[in-house]
Amino acid sequence: MGKKTSVIVLGAGIVGTCTALHLQQRGHEVVLIDKGDPGQETSYGNSCLIQQESVEPYAFPRSFSALARMALGLGADVHWHANAIPSLAKPLWQYYQNSAPAKHEAITQKYSRLIAHATSEHASLIAATASEDLIQREGFRFVYRSQAAFAEGVARAHRLQRDYGVRHAVLSGDQLAAAEPALQQEMAGAIHWLDPWKVNAPGELVQRYANLFASNGGEIVKEQVLCLGQNTTRPGHSNSKGWQVDTDKGKFEAEQVVIAMGPWSHDFVKRMGYDLPLFIKRGYHQHFQQPKNLNLAMLDAEKGFVLIPTKYGIRLTTGAEFAHINAAPTPIQLQKTQKLALALIGLSEPEPKPPWMGSRPCTADMLPIMGPAPAHQGLWFNFGHGHQGFTLGPMAGRLMAEMISGEPTFVEPVPYLPARFGG
Ligand SMILES: Cc1cc2nc3c(=O)[nH]c(=O)nc-3n(C[C@H](O)[C@H](O)[C@H](O)COP(=O)(O)OP(=O)(O)OC[C@H]3O[C@@H](n4cnc5c(N)ncnc54)[C@H](O)[C@@H]3O)c2cc1C
Repeated sequence: MGKKTSVIVLGAGIVGTCTALHLQQRGHEVVLIDKGDPGQETSYGNSCLIQQESVEPYAFPRSFSALARMALGLGADVHWHANAIPSLAKPLWQYYQNSAPAKHEAITQKYSRLIAHATSEHASLIAATASEDLIQREGFRFVYRSQAAFAEGVARAHRLQRDYGVRHAVLSGDQLAAAEPALQQEMAGAIHWLDPWKVNAPGELVQRYANLFASNGGEIVKEQVLCLGQNTTRPGHSNSKGWQVDTDKGKFEAEQVVIAMGPWSHDFVKRMGYDLPLFIKRGYHQHFQQPKNLNLAMLDAEKGFVLIPTKYGIRLTTGAEFAHINAAPTPIQLQKTQKLALALIGLSEPEPKPPWMGSRPCTADMLPIMGPAPAHQGLWFNFGHGHQGFTLGPMAGRLMAEMISGEPTFVEPVPYLPARFGG
């Protein structure tokens, strides 16, 4: 193992918290900084799934009909703000190009190597934090309305099983109705993915991981990070560390800094001079108290929303909204999908709170950015985990800690390094 250093991790979502834990396990002195409590942003509001089945990253739609539907805002799965498009045009165009079948297949090879460690890396942290009460290990379902989409879904599931060992069971409409009595509509059928896990309260799981870090002597600081910079040697400060982080309340120094601020990372790395093809896909959720609960989470594969039984009731989560991160919420997809969900499982009134909104931190090549910053010694990036950041957090934390420690890594890191986009 390499030298023990002092490290500041910026952001206590699932990625930053797991990074801090893995660094701590390797003997580093770690400070974890977040403006709020751990796991209360994107890592709280997601669809609660540890997606061991998700070996293929989400491709940008390529058929003319799908693009036209998106452009005209006809479906419930995608929504966009016109004023965000100019700043999104470049990464979205690259994303579109990377979604061509041959490129997407090559990306899937790399992505699947990360997903392979999803449940096993969570498992050790779930055990260490005695969090079994939050975990359901029975998979989840894609449900289909039409026979044509169901047949396509079945063919895809067979392909993923053949190529990547993704286990699944196919359910006819009748079998689905028997398995999920809460369903009120006749469906064509379902794919039951057998390997994913569901977390009843994802933010709480992150909080427990953070508590483990704190109980092992780690320092968690609740302050807003304003900027970071490299220290230059100052007279009388010969022992000053390599990096300084300024917050709204004070200053912190360490030899190394990890940026793990999920969708907020872009702004910070831009200020450090890095032009990375990052963008966000916003999403919403709303909770509903449900007399007839669902047995398993389900994705309505044709309408693009997810229904998840959670500690808070049924959580309905939406698809992608292309918008500026700070633009006012426009929960149109939630309004559309709530009607669909009402017909599907008879939802009760939503809880009387504004909908939650968050942002998936996405990259144009659909792969996370994990590794050393090309132009700054002691600066590390761990963000861009997109649609599966909750799934990938523990493996991303371990990979980062192994790289910082100079250990052999359990996953070959080259495809995910920031340097793939140049210096
Ligand atoms: C609707 C929706 C559904 C999803 N469903 C799933 C799913 O089922 N499974 C899955 O694997 N993934 C899912 N995702 C994606 C997943 O939630 C994210 O990829 C993941 O949570 C990102 O984790 P993170 O730690 O990188 O970011 P975050 O959880 O957002 O953490 C970043 C942290 O940085 C902090 N921060 C930001 N700026 C500052 C600052 N200036 N100073 C101090 N702290 C700061 C924030 O407070 C935050 O705690 C979903 C996302 C959405 C939006």
